[in-house]
Amino acid sequence: MESSLTARDRVGVQDFVLLENYNSEAAFIENLRRRFGENLIYTYIGSVLVSVNPYKELEIYSKQQMERYRGVSFYEISPHIYAVSDNTYRAMRTERKDQCILISGESGAGKTEASKKILLYYAVTCPTNDHMATLGDRLLQSNPVLEAFGNAKTLRNDNSSRFGKYMDVQFDFRGAPVGGHILNYLLEKSRVVHQNHGERNFHIFYQLLDGGDNDLLTTLDLERKPQNYHYLVKGNCPRLSSVSDKNNWKVVMKALSVIGFTEEEKLLNIIASVLHLGNTQFGEGEEGETYITTETQITNLAKVRTMISPLDFEQAVSARDALAKAVYGRTFTWLVEKINQSLALKDEIYHSGKGCSVIGLLDIYGFEVLQHNSFEQFCINYCNEKLQQLFIELTLRSEQEEYETEGIAWETVQYFDNKIICDLIEEKHKGIISILDEECLRPGETCDVSFLEKLEDTLGGHPHFVTHKLANGKTRRVMSREEFRLLHYAGEVNYNINGFLDKNNDLLNRNLKEVMCQSDNQILSHCFRREEVIDQKRPEMAATQFKNSLTKLMEILMSKEPSYVRCIKPNDAKQPGRFDEVLVRHQVKYLGLMENLRVRRAGFAYRRRFEAFLQRYKPLCPETWPNWHGRLADGVSALVNHLGYKAEEYKLGRSKIFIRFPKTLFTTEDALEAK
Ligand code: ADP
Ligand code: MG
Repeated sequence: MESSLTARDRVGVQDFVLLENYNSEAAFIENLRRRFGENLIYTYIGSVLVSVNPYKELEIYSKQQMERYRGVSFYEISPHIYAVSDNTYRAMRTERKDQCILISGESGAGKTEASKKILLYYAVTCPTNDHMATLGDRLLQSNPVLEAFGNAKTLRNDNSSRFGKYMDVQFDFRGAPVGGHILNYLLEKSRVVHQNHGERNFHIFYQLLDGGDNDLLTTLDLERKPQNYHYLVKGNCPRLSSVSDKNNWKVVMKALSVIGFTEEEKLLNIIASVLHLGNTQFGEGEEGETYITTETQITNLAKVRTMISPLDFEQAVSARDALAKAVYGRTFTWLVEKINQSLALKDEIYHSGKGCSVIGLLDIYGFEVLQHNSFEQFCINYCNEKLQQLFIELTLRSEQEEYETEGIAWETVQYFDNKIICDLIEEKHKGIISILDEECLRPGETCDVSFLEKLEDTLGGHPHFVTHKLANGKTRRVMSREEFRLLHYAGEVNYNINGFLDKNNDLLNRNLKEVMCQSDNQILSHCFRREEVIDQKRPEMAATQFKNSLTKLMEILMSKEPSYVRCIKPNDAKQPGRFDEVLVRHQVKYLGLMENLRVRRAGFAYRRRFEAFLQRYKPLCPETWPNWHGRLADGVSALVNHLGYKAEEYKLGRSKIFIRFPKTLFTTEDALEAK
């Protein structure tokens, strides 16, 4: 059955559009659960791939498996990430149109693993370009480097990406990968100075302490034990059983050399200085002045040239932390730039005039609902609203296009358009982000509470915005006075306003910036530009910066043909074989999968090209068996007439048959099986 065209897999349906009751969430989850139980972690919703993290190594990613999926059409064999990789690649080659694969899901659901598998598939199966024999290597090696600096252990994932990533892979006219480019989004900088219990700082700190040789640590004046560094002990979790920092250190150093990196020393100096900065302590003098009580740290920091200006105690601590975050965050961005230089399309290819095509990979945080949701969740969920909007627009667009090319009348689709929520967040002057910016800029006393009041004044009547005051006891869950609630397309989320203003401001003491500009460390003097200190204009605030980068991302994605991978985490214990239904139901909801399915099913459950349909079902009709020699459409007509399809059950387009209900197809399948 493996290599047949059947719609039903060994277990359940391999495409959710074939569920009898596509409105039933219970049926949806049952299908997922049964398949997961048989290690069938992949299922389609049309061309969307749903993936459930198996939390164990499955024997389905070998080179032989890659070969099986090469050139095979989507529905012929079991759903797989390689099928998506291959179909995307072929669409790029044959249609000469740029593609993108959008991967979403909550933390720990398997997004990053999926993106790595896609890259590996291309690195192994695509032809190589003579100029660029090592590009595939460099693309793959960029991962361990980015993960060392951008990933950390969290409660939900031992290797959690703390930034969003969009990567373009460029292919030449023969289909060989020849270049790459990475865009990074919203690194969680706060992790540098604080980690929740059971979590860690970014991997690189522990890797350096565990893996760096004695000489290196002596030069950097570092001790081996992470416990000695304030910035590494907040989560009380210096070591991980699942991760060897020492081995990963070697992997990262090797990866840096494959990429052609020459600034290791400067980079590690910065990492060390962040640790020293964290150990800088302040004392309070008799007249309220603040002084630094830790001298060695200052000697060390002077290597990257730093000083602390007179501030009161709390200001000093927060200025210190702000500096650590800024240094780390900007260094990360610099690192991405460096990787991009190494992956950049070589001039001779760029100017060859033969044209390149692109496959983009988006690995970005999914919709997030925590116990306490703050500014970060607000940004992340806003991003997901935008992606949902893109999904709706692109899916409806491609449905419409297909109906047009097939000459079938368009049927209206009932779906929820989340544009109203995007507007609520991003609209000029009256959206939440604008109000937040205004409040940050307003002279005089502003605080998070005045921000909330402003929101209430401006957005009071909005159907997707609620606060304690506006709710009037009408909402199900009691709200605190420090929250606002957004009714997202995927569900309600309460956001606590504490810290919104500060996080949006993201201010760094001017004197500190000035000192950083003068640093002898060229990475730092590159990251902190003199113009920034001289320029009186206030830089864009965090949420607006994010909004602008999302707008650009949407433009990039809009210009491409999208495919989707939706990842699901089956349990919180990171264990194989466990399927926690409550947890999965949440994700099905927040990923908008039922909505996905409704949009896909709006018209027809099933569509196939005439030749594929005839090929499979021709034994069921004496006129088409063993071979049909007339027009394909007539053959299909003869076949479905013989099978007794009713007019409302199907339509014939120019090259495809569209079947409205799964039942029709299953009856036909049963007839075939009975033969
Ligand atoms: P995300 O990027 O969505 O936060 P990851 O891709 O980092 O999640 O996956 C978390 C962990 O789950 C991985 O470190 C790995 O142990 C496991 N995992 C994810 N996908 C797979 C897979 N396809 N096969 C085996 N293990 C997986
Ligand atoms: Mg990840």
